[in-house]
Amino acid sequence: MASVVDTKLYDILGVPPGASENELKKAYRKLAKEYHPDKNPNAGDKFKEISFAYEVLSNPEKRELYDRYGEQGLREGSGGGGGMDDIFSHIFGGGLFGFMGNQSRSRNGRRRGEDMMHPLKVSLEDLYNGKTTKLQLSKNVLCSACNGQGGKTGAVQKCSACRGHGVRTMIRQLAPGMVQQVQSVCSDCNGEGEVINKKDRCKKCEGKKVIKEVKILEVHVDKGMKHGQRITFAGEADQAPGVEPGDIVLLLQEKEHEVFQRDGNDLHMTYKIGLVEALCGFQFTFKHLDARQIVVKYPPGKVIEPGCVRVVRGEGMPQYRNPFEKGDLYIKFDVQFPENNWVSPDKLSELEDLLPSRPEVPNIIGYTEEVELQEFDSTRGSGGGQRREAYNDSFEEESRAAQAGFLRVPGWSAAAQPEGLSIGMN
Ligand SMILES: [Zn+2]
Ligand SMILES: [Zn+2]
Repeated sequence: MASVVDTKLYDILGVPPGASENELKKAYRKLAKEYHPDKNPNAGDKFKEISFAYEVLSNPEKRELYDRYGEQGLREGSGGGGGMDDIFSHIFGGGLFGFMGNQSRSRNGRRRGEDMMHPLKVSLEDLYNGKTTKLQLSKNVLCSACNGQGGKTGAVQKCSACRGHGVRTMIRQLAPGMVQQVQSVCSDCNGEGEVINKKDRCKKCEGKKVIKEVKILEVHVDKGMKHGQRITFAGEADQAPGVEPGDIVLLLQEKEHEVFQRDGNDLHMTYKIGLVEALCGFQFTFKHLDARQIVVKYPPGKVIEPGCVRVVRGEGMPQYRNPFEKGDLYIKFDVQFPENNWVSPDKLSELEDLLPSRPEVPNIIGYTEEVELQEFDSTRGSGGGQRREAYNDSFEEESRAAQAGFLRVPGWSAAAQPEGLSIGMN
């Protein structure tokens, strides 16, 4: 686990730096209740501190910035959000010069270059096990031969065409007494405001002040990191003279997995079993994300209903920064029933003797009508209205049957009646 440079926000919530999302939430709820202004009008600041601490720590990106760079990380990493200034200085002390919504200025007042964002595709296995990977990128760095000046000291001269402004303003007369002012980037100096004589130009960078360099970054994908989480390399973006380089930000993109779906720290999978397994117990093995072979046993006597979900505690994803704590694994069972006519009718009656007995059907006297149950493909629509009309007369019987609690086939309006139970199935 990476060490944390500052624990102030954790202290406010009274949790250790490695605290899980759940622990944070619990601590926050408890404190927020205690210090809520409704209850405790004199504790307004305390309540704000608690809210601020939770806001930062419950956001994986902000938390990461805070963990890595402390207060400074929050100052620079925040893309704005006014109103926090007060509480920020209340907690960390000091003014907020250059903080919040002013990313283009750095601490020392230099212009700050743009951040470079790269997506980084990672498998669920990588996020489960953690992974260190090397990333090669090409970026601009200040030329070392001329120290980013483009030539010898003194060779740099103010561009005379634009008088060092980098832009040229032209005045066009549109009509007598009417002028238009047009600004364009100076073509002599490419907007830099400076020019270097050809003979004085740095040989290495040809006066461009920067050169392309291949840089290898070592990327640590920590256990439990999530889709959309950022890994930041502060100051590693393109360099340019007079500009503080921005950050390289890697944005994690979780690839789909063929077995597991992730939901926070939990994993979900679907497993197919046969009817015999659903009724008589089973054992199966699957390969987990760390290649462990996991044996799942379900004892005879316990029944799995089709579509039901069972949980294996602690076999989900590791928690970020607290990888020994893991989420849960949910297994949904898809029960495969046998084909039609899979066994002879006399064997079926043997099976029937073993199965729980049929419900007793009360006698209904009077008119009944027998109907046929057909295969129905729900993807092709019910073909509906007309067919239903044909059964309009049976509405009364239907509602009677419904009151009696008979099982009805969804999509069919025919009433299931006592004699009707011998409905032929194909
Ligand atoms: Zn150079
Ligand atoms: Zn110029």
